[in-house]
Amino acid sequence: MHEISTSRPAPDEYVPFWATGAPAKGEFHCSDCGYGVTIHTKLPRCPMCGGGAWEQTEWHPFTRDRQLT
Ligand SMILES: [Zn+2]
Repeated sequence: MHEISTSRPAPDEYVPFWATGAPAKGEFHCSDCGYGVTIHTKLPRCPMCGGGAWEQTEWHPFTRDRQLT
């Protein structure tokens, strides 16, 4: 008999990496140089260093400066 009463420990703050070409939306920054971009469709290659790994930038609910182009 299995007892599944133990509560799982919360996972550490794991920062997933997003690769170039992955469908994404929101703010990301390059994992290499930290260059920040706002993504609406999919992740590009970093224009600064050419890197292809991104981290999602922490979302701040009080920041509401949308850029509609
Ligand atoms: Zn970069």
